[in-house]
Amino acid sequence: MENPTYAQELKQIRLKRYQLWGVFISYLPAIGITLSISEGSGAPAAVCLLWVLFAAIGGVRVSFSRCPRCGNLFHMRGAGTSWGRRCRHCDLSL
Ligand SMILES: [Zn+2]
Repeated sequence: MENPTYAQELKQIRLKRYQLWGVFISYLPAIGITLSISEGSGAPAAVCLLWVLFAAIGGVRVSFSRCPRCGNLFHMRGAGTSWGRRCRHCDLSL
């Protein structure tokens, strides 16, 4: 039986995943806007750098989410990372 207290934790994991997707999707518009409003080459490089930083933070946050049921890392097992919708250890679904 599904334990209802997992709902909050699973919501947090889902939120982190959405944030990461948001970062990925925002890259092209952000670069496009920066290129169109900036004269020099400094601003797009800065946006690119910031984006890499946000993507790295988002990736780490998602990768190190813990499964509320088994306590293991939800998306990682050994060296492998998968951003699937199920826990790599106990198969708990998001
Ligand atoms: Zn699990």
